[in-house]
Amino acid sequence: MDRLLTCAEARALVSDYMNGELDTEHVHMLEYHLLHCLSCPPLYQSIVEIQRHLQQQPPAHHAETIQRVMQRVNAAIQTKQQDK
Ligand SMILES: [Zn+2]
Repeated sequence: MDRLLTCAEARALVSDYMNGELDTEHVHMLEYHLLHCLSCPPLYQSIVEIQRHLQQQPPAHHAETIQRVMQRVNAAIQTKQQDK
């Protein structure tokens, strides 16, 4: 593990990570990022909670809700980056 993921890279890996489709190297890179990044863990946590919530809804709601959530996540990350 000789480099850090950017927030954009970590974000791109999260859905595969939650689906268990990520290879070991990227799992470690993502977990390392989540340990050291200030802005990603709360976003990741909210995605996990929303996914859990979605499991109680009919599948027809999923695509639309996930899209909305990802837009909010992207907006939040952009806001964080602008704060720096
Ligand atoms: Zn991050």
